Amino acid sequence: MNNLAKRVQTLTPSTTLAITAKANELKAAGVDVIGLGAGEPDYNTPENILTAAYQSMKEGKTKYTPSGGLPALKKAIISKLEKDQNLSYEPKEIMVGIGAKHVLYTLFQVLLNEGDEVIIPIPYWVSYPEQVKLAQGVPVYIEATSSQAYKVTAEQLRKAITDRTKAVIINSPSNPTGMLYTKEELAELADVCRESDILIVSDEIYEKLIYGEAVHTSVAELSEDAKKRTIIINGVSKSHSMTGWRIGYAAGDAEIIKAMTDLASHSTSNPTTTSQYAAIEAYDGPQEAVEEMRQAFEARLEAIFPKVAAIPGFNVIRPEGAFYLLPEVEKAAHKTGYSSVDEFATALLTEANVAVIPGSGFGAPKTIRLSYATSLEALTEAVERINQFVTSKW
Ligand code: PLP
Repeated sequence: MNNLAKRVQTLTPSTTLAITAKANELKAAGVDVIGLGAGEPDYNTPENILTAAYQSMKEGKTKYTPSGGLPALKKAIISKLEKDQNLSYEPKEIMVGIGAKHVLYTLFQVLLNEGDEVIIPIPYWVSYPEQVKLAQGVPVYIEATSSQAYKVTAEQLRKAITDRTKAVIINSPSNPTGMLYTKEELAELADVCRESDILIVSDEIYEKLIYGEAVHTSVAELSEDAKKRTIIINGVSKSHSMTGWRIGYAAGDAEIIKAMTDLASHSTSNPTTTSQYAAIEAYDGPQEAVEEMRQAFEARLEAIFPKVAAIPGFNVIRPEGAFYLLPEVEKAAHKTGYSSVDEFATALLTEANVAVIPGSGFGAPKTIRLSYATSLEALTEAVERINQFVTSKW
């Protein structure tokens, strides 16, 4: 007897979490594994945020809150959007949820009817297609190849739009590519969305992790029309090293936000109260720690990028944001005797003891994703192990 609903029968568990679990298993068995699979900063949450959370608990702020988030947190988010993006929102246009992931899940639940299409650029963050499918929507993929710096063009977007298209997802900087759309590129995409009257889901969770001369632009900043059709998704996980606190938010059209809030009222009640108080401090308190972490990631990128680029059979573009490298390694996989990059990635884990995420989970099966959210020492050793593994079998 199959007790499971159809909607979960094709659900694939998150590849990112799966490889991390396998690496942890090996570590527990005493193997010296270096994990480059992490999707989270390797720093603790800044001290002032920990203190604010503790303080709120001591003051008895440990009860339910409004479903869409505490008014004070919405206010802090509105100030952040005003300061960083020059965008003005009202509280009814903000919904706070249990991490950006659950906010996105809730968004697709309230947006999509059966058969509605959502355009997803490849390589994509693993959860987008699954979340769209769970809402009975249909993911429609457009491929951004490495030769186009992993960014889709307005022309590709235009061609993918049908009369069932509801929205396109833009994730800039991107997980897994680390690429950042320029203002001009976003303006072209926004024009296509305006012509076809579709929504833009703008996942800006890596907004604070930008390197070199690159500048982050939110598509919502571009025009009044772009703002109206964009739902910004963001949160404190990556910016303030708060992945475990589970606070994310959506900013956009009041009707959509109300539906999301109503759905949350029946599914989650509210995001964890203590975490909301922590997030108020994250946004309203000092921001030095955010910049310090950004600088540390940039220094690591500087140090390891040339080393990764020099591994035989690796083809990698220098990212401008987030904390991932996405080298194409198909040539290295074949030359070292593996028929697929998935097998190559498994061998890297079991033989070279380096955990990387195979790109097949991101729709990019020629690639692996290396996270540099780990110490420079571990990174240097890991890249050396990969290099030796490849050169010894070449
Ligand atoms: N969006 C992208 C692109 C991500 O990489 C992640 C986390 O890995 C999320 C959203 C979810 O973040 P949160 O921890 O806020 O749920």
